[in-house]
Amino acid sequence: MNLLPFDKLKPYRARMFVPKAIDLGDWPQIAALFDKLEARAPRCKTAAQLQRWLLDAGELSAALDQESSLRNIAMTCHTDSPEAEKAFLHFVEKIEPEAKPRQFKLAQIYLQHPLRAKLPKKRWFVFDRNAQVQVELFRPENVPLETEESRLGQQYQKLSGSLTVQFRGQEKTLAQMARFLEEPDRALRQEAWELTANRRLQEAGKFEENFEQLLALREKIAVNAGFKDYLSYAFRSRGRFDYTPADCRKFHEAVEKEIMPIVRTLQAKRRRQLNLDALRPWDMGVDPLNRAPLHPFEKVEEMVSRTQKIFDQLDSGLASDFTLMRRKRLLDLDNRKGKAPGGYQSTLSEARMPFIFMNAVGVHRDVETMLHEAGHAFHALATQGEDLYAYRGAPIEFCEVASMSMELLGNEFIEAFYAEPEARRARHDHLEQIITIFPWIVTVDAFQHWIYSHRGHSRAERRQAWLDLMCRFGGDVDWSGHEEKRANLWHRQLHIFLYPFYYVEYGIAQLGALQVWANSLKSRRRALQQYHRALALGGSRPLPALFEAAGCQFDFSRRTIKPLVRLVRSQLEKLESPPAKG
Ligand SMILES: [Zn+2]
Repeated sequence: MNLLPFDKLKPYRARMFVPKAIDLGDWPQIAALFDKLEARAPRCKTAAQLQRWLLDAGELSAALDQESSLRNIAMTCHTDSPEAEKAFLHFVEKIEPEAKPRQFKLAQIYLQHPLRAKLPKKRWFVFDRNAQVQVELFRPENVPLETEESRLGQQYQKLSGSLTVQFRGQEKTLAQMARFLEEPDRALRQEAWELTANRRLQEAGKFEENFEQLLALREKIAVNAGFKDYLSYAFRSRGRFDYTPADCRKFHEAVEKEIMPIVRTLQAKRRRQLNLDALRPWDMGVDPLNRAPLHPFEKVEEMVSRTQKIFDQLDSGLASDFTLMRRKRLLDLDNRKGKAPGGYQSTLSEARMPFIFMNAVGVHRDVETMLHEAGHAFHALATQGEDLYAYRGAPIEFCEVASMSMELLGNEFIEAFYAEPEARRARHDHLEQIITIFPWIVTVDAFQHWIYSHRGHSRAERRQAWLDLMCRFGGDVDWSGHEEKRANLWHRQLHIFLYPFYYVEYGIAQLGALQVWANSLKSRRRALQQYHRALALGGSRPLPALFEAAGCQFDFSRRTIKPLVRLVRSQLEKLESPPAKG
């Protein structure tokens, strides 16, 4: 039974190494290919043979990667199919754990290969750098610690996912409570907010304990790998070759100096519009002018055809990419029973094709997600011509430039969905969201910088460090009477528990996206040329080179942020004043 929304896809290039008839769910068949690669390496006598060996190893990785994606897609499209779930779990439990050490072994063999020095330096620079980190950080004694780390992470997820409240006679999860913060009725908002925040606060002790266990593990992992603290280990293991903790601290400062003033201005405006003496934590999600939510479409087909209209106006290359995805049914966008929640873009690495999964229900957020995931899909299509598997994927800091730029560029043609006043509102709200998320991003980042560079700190010291950051980046929101909730606010941020340090990437990428958009306001044609060119580089160049190709600075200091904030400010003002008649 085919549980996929699309037909079987052919590999982009015919396989040269992996047999056509292989069963990628059968480990012995896969193991035989790893054996072959290991045996072949010493027999490579020329640089060309070594390159072929690398391409073949990549071909195998791409086939495995695609198999994992296909099984994940089938499962998320059919959560009610035990067959799909079984197939997915089989791959995660039986294939991936076997494949990982074998891929690590290949990296090791490659790094020690005498012919490696003969390969063109510039072409292999990024590849070599990544292989070196993979090998350098590997410690067998860390493997069980990492297993324990993911077990504790699951515990966090289980705890946060299990929390519910009784609201107006119904049991609701905390995620379901979020939409009440958009209600115009202030008393209702406050009730919903207090209920949710209190529920989380009841578990504060458990969250702290869970985190302290994670912290102890991480410090041990770092020491085992020969690092003085987890901060320096994390920068290395996340492949952050092109920026340092000091750059991040500069970023935090730049947000404080350049972005906090505009955040405070926006908050003051919100307060006036809502006619309040002070903004409280439950006043931040409601539309300050009490307007009904935007209603961009009825049916998902309308969302698709209107999105197509946006790309038709934006760029012929992107338009035909999107048409291709529609034709090949690489979009599964409607919300229906039996689908997993959320939205994602997944790349089918052998076919070199993207797939977009969503649960569209007719709200504006769907349009934003559609544009965002389309940006990721364009990235995948742009790298089709790259034959080295490892270079078809870029670092996350740049992947999100591809997607976040598309939100900004697409919004310029949002009239495909809305009449004029609503179109202006959509653009305005988007820019406002971009600005107001920066302080939270750097709060989460700076907090972790503090935590992982203060070994042996106490719970009280950690709490104070968090409160200091809330003072710097919390803006003008009145928390009186809710001091405990404020001090424990970080418990809700999953990344701190599960993906340490993985958050600042969104801020870095947003700065790139804003620059792409700023360039497009000067010359759309040129900005899109640069966008295409940068995406096509995949992961073959270091981050600063990818940013440069896209027409951006890879820099997160005040120098880069200041003019962007000025631009956003002026655009917001323009969008607020009624359009000139003419
Ligand atoms: Zn994304």
